[in-house]
Amino acid sequence: MHFPKGFKEKYYNLLGEEAPSFFLTFDEEPVSAFRVNPLKEHQKHFLNPISNTNWGYYGKISGKSIEHVTGLVYSQEPAAQMVAQIAAPRQDMKVLDLAAAPGGKSTHLLSYLNNTGVLVSNEINSKRSKVLVENIERFGARNVVVTNESADRLSQVFQGYFDLIVLDAPCSGEGMFRKQPEAMEYWNESYPTRCAQVQREILENTVKMLATNGELIYSTCTWSPEENEQIVDWLLENYPLELVEIPKINGMIAGINFPETARMYPHRFKGEGQFVAKFRLCSKQSAKKLKVKKSHLTSEQKMLWQKFQREHLAIDLTGELQTFGDHLYLLPLGLPDMSKLKIARNGLYLGVFKKKRFEPSFALGLALKPNEVKRVIEIDEEQFKKYVVGEIVNLDQKYGNGWYQIIVQGNGLGFAKVTGNILKNYFPKGLRFQ
Ligand code: SAM
Repeated sequence: MHFPKGFKEKYYNLLGEEAPSFFLTFDEEPVSAFRVNPLKEHQKHFLNPISNTNWGYYGKISGKSIEHVTGLVYSQEPAAQMVAQIAAPRQDMKVLDLAAAPGGKSTHLLSYLNNTGVLVSNEINSKRSKVLVENIERFGARNVVVTNESADRLSQVFQGYFDLIVLDAPCSGEGMFRKQPEAMEYWNESYPTRCAQVQREILENTVKMLATNGELIYSTCTWSPEENEQIVDWLLENYPLELVEIPKINGMIAGINFPETARMYPHRFKGEGQFVAKFRLCSKQSAKKLKVKKSHLTSEQKMLWQKFQREHLAIDLTGELQTFGDHLYLLPLGLPDMSKLKIARNGLYLGVFKKKRFEPSFALGLALKPNEVKRVIEIDEEQFKKYVVGEIVNLDQKYGNGWYQIIVQGNGLGFAKVTGNILKNYFPKGLRFQ
């Protein structure tokens, strides 16, 4: 591999006699892995688990596979899997993932929350926030809001609010050089220092959003000390934060001068590059009083939704109903007024009101387990292939007309309308593939 000027020297200096084994790993294939999604009803047996993880496996899963399309798996390399594992939110926590797209850490955090508490998953780049929404919808969690904001604007709404914040910071990306060699194009010797400046700016606003005793996970996919330990040093000097020890598993090593933090190098840890530090806020931080926005459903809308619920759902969905035009969303409880923020996904998208009827969304059909829905139709692999292209599917028997959740290999793939033995296609146009 041809490295940018200064990179080899930097890591020969930093790693000393370990440097040759570190550089040898760049001639090896990047490590592929994925996580299974515990929110899905039908689990599958996979080979090659990653030790000391709940849901991690080595291996590659195609983006066209049933496992991927139904959200049963999320591809994520092993070192990146350590970030949310270190964060390990407890049920009912209020969590922020501040730099979240495409959604690896967010979906992992949601696995821990198990549809309790709330996750605000934020991405500053609007194009990337759309990919984030797609990945979160496929994962099927019901307690997420996706925002498209800067840390500064978020902090004005969420002061003192979060029990846990994950900042997987934009960084110089050295740990991605093997997997995405194009990341090297940006790199020069002063790039880490410039990235560190951005990281400090984001962190200034991040700390404001921690609740009393709140936890902060700071991670990067780079090895440069400027963006890692020097940031830790700066945080400890400027804020009432204390480091929390990260147990070193699977070949992680302690950070430089900060044994509580963790570094992952490919010659020691089977994965790409990563740094993680965990902090706790050790001072009181006052939260803004919650000004909850009330929903404005018309009585007809309320009636149509209740009718759909009665006929189709076997569970009660908790949350606050909100409309945006004709679209209906279920917002997790206990959020402040977010009307000043750019929202990419206002909670769980339930569906749309059309003339005197309610049409369930694709997202709702991904977020419900088949045992939570009254009317389901299972399709087989051949029918799945037709469905994802956008074709109608002929069923082998007649069903009563109406909406059904589509099931494939035991997990939901949205809702679709059936007339007789014809299953109309409701697979979103933007997601279709051959
Ligand atoms: N956490 C993501 C995951 O696991 O899939 C990866 C996040 S990536 C390392 C960093 C993200 O930070 C990018 O999506 C980038 O758009 C975003 N970003 C860049 N500049 C930012 C800023 N000033 N404030 C907040 N986020 C920023």
